[in-house]
Amino acid sequence: MATELLYLDDFNVLTASATVTAVTALDDGRTDIELDRTCFYPRGGGQDWDTGTIRAGDDAFTVQEVRLDEHQVVHHLGEGNLSVGAAVVLEVDAEQRAVNTRLHSAGHIVDLAVERLGLPWVPGKGAHYPHMSFVEYNGELPGDAEEIRQRVEQEVTAVIAEGSRNEIRFMPVAEMGDYCRHVPDNIPTNKPARIVLYNADFGVPCGGTHVQDVAEVGKLNITKVRSKKGITKVSYAVDGIN
Ligand SMILES: [Zn+2]
Repeated sequence: MATELLYLDDFNVLTASATVTAVTALDDGRTDIELDRTCFYPRGGGQDWDTGTIRAGDDAFTVQEVRLDEHQVVHHLGEGNLSVGAAVVLEVDAEQRAVNTRLHSAGHIVDLAVERLGLPWVPGKGAHYPHMSFVEYNGELPGDAEEIRQRVEQEVTAVIAEGSRNEIRFMPVAEMGDYCRHVPDNIPTNKPARIVLYNADFGVPCGGTHVQDVAEVGKLNITKVRSKKGITKVSYAVDGIN
């Protein structure tokens, strides 16, 4: 059975109870486990995995890595033993999640700003990690890179100052075009399809975790804009994170 993804329909679930459904002992003494449900975000979509702790009775296991294998979320744990059927309590590291969420959401704010500025770009891949945050677009720079960097930075600052709460909607990929300017053709099929709707009309197909209000991102700096071989890369940093 597929792992139930508790973070998908509520970004605020940071703790939950669950049952161990599979245990794989690794050669190095550590363990991979699967659960019936999880609030740990597995790395994906340019967003890093959640860290935290899984407790079973008096035992506590450090969650070192989380990934989605087909329909199962695999939690890679530090040393210790767990058995199938064990009842566990999940605790996501709230501080680390908040960092990942703000960085991820910042990428969407860049998208919003690019859309509002009418820049002729199609969203491509993104990375929202503390050591490296950027969004790529298919399309060339229509002018001076520094001038466009400044315009994007002014626009993201305006978007954040205005504030905007978002809304989650689950829907078939075929319907996403009604809400989203761009629907990539590589949307994962191994988890429920979801969009996050900003400003009631700017939808993004996305499985990541998002701030409730864009104002929570804080000061967003556009650090670099450059174009190469038809791809424009907008790099950014969030004050207090990177
Ligand atoms: Zn997203």
